[in-house]
Amino acid sequence: MNRKKASILLIYTGGTIGMKQDPVDGTLHPFDFSHIISEVPELSKFALKIDCHTFSPLIDSSDVQPGLWKDIATLIGRKYDQYDGFVVLHGTDTMAYSASALSFMLENLSKPVVFTGSQLPIGALRTDGRENLISAVEIASAHDEEGNPMVPEVCIFFDYTLLRGNRATKVSSENFSAFRSPNLPPLAEAGISIRFNRPLIRRPGPEAPSLIVHRDLDTRVSILKIHPGLTPEVARYFLCSPGIRAVILETYGSGNAPAKGWFPELVREADRSGKLIVNVTQCLSGSVDMDLYATGKVLKDAGVVSGYDATTEAMLSKLFYILALSPTKEDAKKLLEKNLRGEISKTL
Ligand code: ASP
Repeated sequence: MNRKKASILLIYTGGTIGMKQDPVDGTLHPFDFSHIISEVPELSKFALKIDCHTFSPLIDSSDVQPGLWKDIATLIGRKYDQYDGFVVLHGTDTMAYSASALSFMLENLSKPVVFTGSQLPIGALRTDGRENLISAVEIASAHDEEGNPMVPEVCIFFDYTLLRGNRATKVSSENFSAFRSPNLPPLAEAGISIRFNRPLIRRPGPEAPSLIVHRDLDTRVSILKIHPGLTPEVARYFLCSPGIRAVILETYGSGNAPAKGWFPELVREADRSGKLIVNVTQCLSGSVDMDLYATGKVLKDAGVVSGYDATTEAMLSKLFYILALSPTKEDAKKLLEKNLRGEISKTL
C-alpha cells in the first residue's frame, strides 16, 4: 500500500534515558532531544518524520504527579491528527503508573502510544536506551496490511519486549529486562523482526468513536498493604480517613487478609462509611478470588470488591479515573468491575 511518510511525535519527560555523560568530568546532564537525529543517527534510516516535544522541567520519574499525566494526555489530544504514533520517553521508576494512567485517560485510542526509557543513559557506551528508543519508534509507526496501526494501545517497550502499559510492572532496578506483565503475554517481541502477538492487541472497531481525552482524575485513594504486625491505628488511617473515597487493599495470595480479630470489623466500618475497598494481590502473578479461602470470603462479606488480576499501578489509576466520573460509590463500583482498557483478564 502506498502511504505518505509516517510521522512520530517523541515526547521527552525526563528519566535516565535522556542523560549524557560530560566527556570532561563524567557528570550526567539531560540531552537535547531537539538534536535527536544527530545523537541517534540510526533513526534517520527510518522513512519517518520525527518531531520532538520536550517537557520543562525534565524530571526524574520519582517526581511524577497526576499533573504530568494530564499534560501528556492534553498534548497527545492536541497533536492527535498530526501524528501516526507517539513515543513517550520517561523514567522507569513510575513508568508503569504513567502508562496505566494514560491508558484510562485516552478513551477510544486508535494510535500507538509507546512508553520507553532505559537503565543506562543514552549517552553511555553500553546503553540500552538506543535500542529501546529505535524499536519504540519502529513499533509506534508500524502498520498492518490495511494501513492500520499495529498497536493502537498505550504500551511499554523495554528490552526487546512490548507490554500492555496497564499490565506492566517494574521488576528490576538493575537488569536491562526491567519490566514484566505477569498476567498477560507480551504484545510483541523484537528479534530479527518485530513479532506482534496480533490476537492479543486491542483494536477499535471500524465504527469506533473518536478519541476522548479525560483530564479529570480524583486522587482520593489510599493503598494499604496487609502485613503481619499491622496495627489497628495504621489500618484505620488508611481505611477510614475522611479525605479518602477508595482504598486498595494489597492482600496475600488469592486475596486473603486476617479473618480473626479487629481487621474484618474495621473493613466493615470503612465500607459502611462509604469507602470503595478494592482487593488486589501482593503476588506478582495470578488473580484475586475471594471465594477460595475463608480469609478471602470474610473480605467479600465485608463489602470488598475484587480487583481480579490488576496490578496495583493499574488499579490506582483506574480508581483515579473512575472516581472522577462517578458521583457515588455505586457508580464507581459498576465501572470498577468492568474491563475498561484490557487492564484485567475478565472479559466483561
Ligand atoms: N530514577 C529514574 C527515573 O525513573 C530511573 C530511570 O530513569 O530509569 O526517572
